[in-house]
Amino acid sequence: MEPVAPPKTYRVKSFGCQMNVYDGERMAELLGTRGITPALEGEEADLVILNTCHIREKAAEKVYSDIGRMVKAGAQAGKTPLIAVAGCVAQAEGEEIMRRAPAVSIVVGPQAYHRLPEMLDKAVGGERATDTDMPAIAKFDALPARRKRGPAAFLTVQEGCDKFCTYCVVPYTRGAEISRPFAHLIAEAQMLVEAGAKEITLLGQNVNAWAGEDDKGRAAGLAGLIHALARIDGLVRIRYTTSHPNDMDEALIAAHGEVDKLMPYLHLPVQSGSDRVLKAMNRQHTVEGYLRLLEKFRAVRPDIALSGDFIVGFPGETEAEFEDTLRIVDAVRYAHAFSFKYSPRPGTPAATLDGQIAPEVMHERLHRLQERLGHHQFAFNQASVGRTCQVMIERTGREPGQWLGKSPWLQSVWFSGDHAIGDLVDVQLIEAGPNSLQGEPVRIPAELAR
Ligand code: SF4
Repeated sequence: MEPVAPPKTYRVKSFGCQMNVYDGERMAELLGTRGITPALEGEEADLVILNTCHIREKAAEKVYSDIGRMVKAGAQAGKTPLIAVAGCVAQAEGEEIMRRAPAVSIVVGPQAYHRLPEMLDKAVGGERATDTDMPAIAKFDALPARRKRGPAAFLTVQEGCDKFCTYCVVPYTRGAEISRPFAHLIAEAQMLVEAGAKEITLLGQNVNAWAGEDDKGRAAGLAGLIHALARIDGLVRIRYTTSHPNDMDEALIAAHGEVDKLMPYLHLPVQSGSDRVLKAMNRQHTVEGYLRLLEKFRAVRPDIALSGDFIVGFPGETEAEFEDTLRIVDAVRYAHAFSFKYSPRPGTPAATLDGQIAPEVMHERLHRLQERLGHHQFAFNQASVGRTCQVMIERTGREPGQWLGKSPWLQSVWFSGDHAIGDLVDVQLIEAGPNSLQGEPVRIPAELAR
């Protein structure tokens, strides 16, 4: 490759999960330390980072078509950007990307992006660079301080996964489970609060597998970390995602009754309502075990909003087993949920299983599942009408003076008034929609305030 001028502007396009969003923010901060600034809306960036996701079918093919589009647009604009591919497709494909896409200068995996500045120097000098090494902790130690952000911030506390669900690529693209050190997390959370964050969502592929030693040298789990974070002044709300049923413990359940700043929201994937399918997925728990766990959360925090993940059309899934999934949805009455059609991922055991389900059957099942999930989400919103709660404003609404924020149950609430982004406003929920609620600010007399 020819040497090129050092980039002045960048654009990071993150796909997939919140951990990719977090990584995208950290890569942006790294580029900021080199004086490289975000490209303006509609402006061609000198450097484009595709921060990829490997979860969906044809994920890799999508990356190549994105690269093709960028090269074409660059040629028309007479300015081909420096292209970097990061994230899970970079980790899975590595040198293959360099072979198939000559326009790509950098391929960097999710555990190696702290070396982006050096790789950029090489690319500017005309040398292409690939790094899919997995030094997870070293990565975080090498990252710069957190920068000013909105009121809601992400904090990755755990990475990787040792569960090896038969349909999932994450253990191969993100590596083994690691927990970031307690002190580093407290320090980063304080930095985020000083930079304007009022709500922090703790992230991990199995966030509740986080384990470490607290500031007194005692063994601590996620509950211990949450208790410690709750002592940070200025931090008002704490959330965490994504959990695995098998990494839940009594302390974390109890924390939902003990820590006011811990929001009444739990995202706990189940994927299927059939024990046979759960076994074939290697989820290592039963439907009964999962339901008993949720009962414990509801006992500690009766108003807790429950959220789940579902896969329809897993190889061999019968109509009766799909109906088992609909039954668990009706039993739990989820306030929120994500649902997907099964997609065979190269290199995963399930991809070669017999009984692959026809696409039209998957499509029809996903439609029925989403209808049922939508019904329960709407019912949860309707049951919230009349409640007064604090809503944290995250952005402006459609109309002037209108705001959009999140309730403690992670519902989208819009209302009007003289406020600002980041404000925590006492709002009465007055009307429910399937995906959001309308609110009205109320004045809570000081003696009644929290
Ligand atoms: S728990 Fe299963 S689905 Fe979740 S990241 Fe690990 S292997 Fe993937």
